[in-house]
Amino acid sequence: MGSIGSNLQEVKRRIAAACAAASRDANTVTLLVVSKTFGADAVREAFGAGARAFGENYVQEALAKMDALADLRGTLEWHLIGPLQSNKTRPVAEAFDWVHTVDRLKVAERLAAQRPPGLPPLNLCLQVNVSGEATKSGVAPAELPWLAAAVAALPRGRVRLRGLMSIPEPARGEAAQRRPHRQLREMFDALRAQGHALDTLSMGMSSDLEAAVAEGATLVRVGSAIFGVRG
Ligand SMILES: *Cc1c(COP(=O)(O)O)cnc(C)c1O
Repeated sequence: MGSIGSNLQEVKRRIAAACAAASRDANTVTLLVVSKTFGADAVREAFGAGARAFGENYVQEALAKMDALADLRGTLEWHLIGPLQSNKTRPVAEAFDWVHTVDRLKVAERLAAQRPPGLPPLNLCLQVNVSGEATKSGVAPAELPWLAAAVAALPRGRVRLRGLMSIPEPARGEAAQRRPHRQLREMFDALRAQGHALDTLSMGMSSDLEAAVAEGATLVRVGSAIFGVRG
C-alpha cells in the first residue's frame, strides 16, 4: 500500500478507467471515502489529498471524529453507511448529511421528525436486500415500491429520498459481481419511471467498484483500497 494520498489517486484512476470503459463521464461517479475504524488523522490526511465525502458505519465513532475535525465543519460531508436502529436516530439526524441504510419507514419517520429545522434536508438512500444476502439488512425488493412512496411523502424540508444502496455478498469475477448491481439499477430505473426523482445509486466497494460503475453506480464506497486493511 502507498500513502493515503497515492491510494486515493489510484482509486480515482480506477473510477475514471471504469467510466471510460462504460462511456460515462467520470464526473457522474462520486467517491465516498469509507473511514470506519480509522482515526481523525487519517480522515484529515485524505481531506488534504482532496477527499470531501466520508462514510462511517458506527455512530459514536463518527461523532468523535466529527468533533476532532470540527475545524473542517461545512467542508466535509458525512454519510452513515452502517445499520441504524430506530432508537438511535437522533444524533444521526443532527450530525450527518446522508443516511444510506434506511430500510424501514419508522427509521425515516424518526429522522424526519428529528432533523433540526435550521439544517438542509437529510439525504436518504433505501438499502435493498437485492438477492436475499446474508447481511439481512435492507428492504426486500417486493416491499421497495411501497417504502419508496412512504419515504418520499415525508416532509421534504427534513428528509429527501435520493436513491438506493446495496451491499451484495462478495463475488469473484466480473459477471458475478455485476449481476446484483444490475438488479439494483433496474429497481432504480423502475422507481424513476414511476416518477421518483432519484439521482443516487450507491453501490460498489474496493473489490468491485468497476462492476458497479459498469452497471450505473453514481457513488462508490471505498475504504480498504485507500486506508489499507482494517484492524
Ligand atoms: C466497510 C464498508 C465499505 C468499504 O468496504 P471496502 O471493501 O473497505 O472498500 C463500503 N460499504 C459499506 C456499507 C461498508 O460497511
